[in-house]
Amino acid sequence: MTARREDLAANLARVHERIDGAAMAAGRDAGDIDLVVVTKYFPASDVDLLADLGVRHIGENKDQEASAKVADLTRRDELTVHFIGQLQSNKVAHVAAYADVVQSVDRAKIVTGLDRAAERHGRHLDVLLQVALDGSGSRGGVAPEEARALADLVAESACLSLRGVMAVAPLEGDPRRAFARLRELADGIRAGHSDATWISAGMSGDLEEAVLEGATHLRVGSAILGSRPSLG
Ligand SMILES: *Cc1c(COP(=O)(O)O)cnc(C)c1O
Repeated sequence: MTARREDLAANLARVHERIDGAAMAAGRDAGDIDLVVVTKYFPASDVDLLADLGVRHIGENKDQEASAKVADLTRRDELTVHFIGQLQSNKVAHVAAYADVVQSVDRAKIVTGLDRAAERHGRHLDVLLQVALDGSGSRGGVAPEEARALADLVAESACLSLRGVMAVAPLEGDPRRAFARLRELADGIRAGHSDATWISAGMSGDLEEAVLEGATHLRVGSAILGSRPSLG
């Protein structure tokens, strides 16, 4: 356990150095960038160690795994839990029970389902719209031209707050160009919704490009926790 803690601490320090370097290159304050540590496939004990090391945001992408893990955390109150995985409408009610932020909202049915579930649980959720940047939507997300209408729908929901946008860079092509498109889209949405200031972009392999294009939230897994036992 001590060895694991040391590994996590060293990896975290390296990622913070990368964020600091990218922020400096971008002329930004690294303090304006939140690190969401993606803990999927790793146990609650790792999350507790990360909380002890100062991590305040974790990301999970599978409902069943996430709900069990969150229930097992000894330091739940210190953490903001972000759901970042593809949402099926039959899972939405469950996610609304434990997530604080849902980053992967990409269609109307998910918006209405989440709002209803949040109300039932007496909770309020921060929401990001996941935008498809690769045209095909193969990694999930709303088409860019449909994002404005979906943003309006979230904004009208009593138990949801529209906080911004999220995207995964396409597998092919330059991530920085993709993140530049995301930033433009975020600007457009913020013109109508002044609280929608978050841009969640950048993972272990492309966090520098995301910082250069204005990301406020990075979702970093393997660079901190190591390679995942099985990539699904
Ligand atoms: C797994 C995952 C990440 C983290 O990816 P790494 O390459 O391990 O940093 C980020 N975002 C989403 C949506 C993910 O599913």
